[in-house]
Amino acid sequence: MRPDWEEIVAHAVGRGLRVTFATNGILVTKVIARRIAELGVFNVSVSLDGATAETHDCIRGVPRIFEKACNAVRNLVEADVRVTVNYTPMRPNLAEAPRMITLAHRLGAKKINLTEYVYTTRGGIELMLKPDELGKLMSYWTTAGEEWKGRIEVDWHDCRVGLILPEEEADPYKGCGAGYTHCRITINHDVTPCVVLPVPVGNLRQQTFAEIWRNAPELEKIRSRDSITSGNCSVCEHKQRCGGCRAASFACYGDAYAGDPTCWIKPETAALPKYNNSAQQVTT
Ligand code: SF4
Ligand code: SF4
Repeated sequence: MRPDWEEIVAHAVGRGLRVTFATNGILVTKVIARRIAELGVFNVSVSLDGATAETHDCIRGVPRIFEKACNAVRNLVEADVRVTVNYTPMRPNLAEAPRMITLAHRLGAKKINLTEYVYTTRGGIELMLKPDELGKLMSYWTTAGEEWKGRIEVDWHDCRVGLILPEEEADPYKGCGAGYTHCRITINHDVTPCVVLPVPVGNLRQQTFAEIWRNAPELEKIRSRDSITSGNCSVCEHKQRCGGCRAASFACYGDAYAGDPTCWIKPETAALPKYNNSAQQVTT
């Protein structure tokens, strides 16, 4: 959407940053794909919300965009850009998980990445999987990683996965990385601890990024698992290694330091409240 995206990418790559994109694919024509390759973008993630046009278009609420997303993957692969397919499991596309891997592989993606659904953005709580459904899916997904080895990388983002992997493989998975391994800068220059956690910790109009990253009290707080004071995570023996999804906690309870209602290892016993509209409003 930004007319100056090429300038930004060229500058970032020139400064030695590894640049990646996440896109719905609609604007990624053959010409744009070639430009992305020329600029040295390391990876482009294209989101697919289903293995069929019917499911993807229905979740996205726009007809005929499944084909556009698939074409984006093809265009990027043809231009020699590394592509990841992003898959967010929700109730309507849960059954398509195995077919998602087959599709991503067929389209030429190098990787398929499963990202936990957190409804702080435009979806509702009714799309969220139940903890046991998510647990079964994660168990399937980690097995599929072995089955597909050498053909496509089957990856995931779930703060609990490190708890079910053998110790040597679990090492890179340090649980929730909000404000620790990453953060987000919104279009109005707010810095938030995670892409799906809409709690501003500073604004780039007032401070430099380095000042915010090093000194923001809210970032200090979220980096410490001891800040979690209620719910399943607060009393869990895996608190330090996992920490639960702070965004899921915020979405459901309006508190980033409560329990994780999506946990399939120590399910939360507190009832799920109604949809949190305030979370939706502050998300960009
Ligand atoms: S209760 Fe929280 S800390 Fe414990 S495993 Fe579940 S999500 Fe992780
Ligand atoms: S809040 Fe933590 S677990 Fe949740 S999506 Fe962000 S980094 Fe992942």
